[in-house]
Amino acid sequence: MGVIMKIAIATKNSHKINELSRLIQIDGIEFISLTDLGFDGDIIEDGSTFAENALIKAKFICEKYNVYAIADDSGLCVDALGGEPGIYSARYASVTDGNASDEANIIKLLEKLKTIPSGERSARFVCSMAFASPDGESFAVDGICEGHITSECRGNGGFGYDPVFYCTKLCKTFGEASEQEKNCVSHRYHACKLLTQRLKEYLENK
Ligand code: IMP
Repeated sequence: MGVIMKIAIATKNSHKINELSRLIQIDGIEFISLTDLGFDGDIIEDGSTFAENALIKAKFICEKYNVYAIADDSGLCVDALGGEPGIYSARYASVTDGNASDEANIIKLLEKLKTIPSGERSARFVCSMAFASPDGESFAVDGICEGHITSECRGNGGFGYDPVFYCTKLCKTFGEASEQEKNCVSHRYHACKLLTQRLKEYLENK
């Protein structure tokens, strides 16, 4: 089947573009990047949930370039901290508005959880993936990966909070898991699966 629909992926992260285009495989769909569109600016993410932020990004690119667009937003939610760091995951330890280093974010998280016993450190990674169409249709889906926060770093694979996130399904931290293992259970994997289903339904009804 030839290309029947081009979808822009609203991220500048080339690793993410590769990962999402591998996970969302639908006949007739071709993914294009922000570079292909000539976009090099920043999109202000001022939503209060992952889904709102993902929708803001997808709609922004959709409206600016009159193209179909998808975007994601993700982070870590820790129950004992009322859902923190949540949408602030990337800049948790930042004193300005910018992102903090992975190491600083982990140090802050472990410090905040220092008095919380092991049975009460439940947490989940959440990934919202949003789609926006020039005809005005938009939706977002959430993928979740359950686990808990360890008391120290284990393994040095992955990025972000991976070394302190013990994944219930894998029985090890994401830092100890291989990329393939993580990719089969991650929040992004689940979100992409749900988005693929919704996109297929959208295409069938079009
Ligand atoms: P983003 O929305 O995908 O850019 O993720 C925001 C932040 O959430 C990242 O900078 C990380 O701190 C954290 N995060 C999201 N996904 C993961 C993951 O798979 N492993 C570890 N940290 C993650």
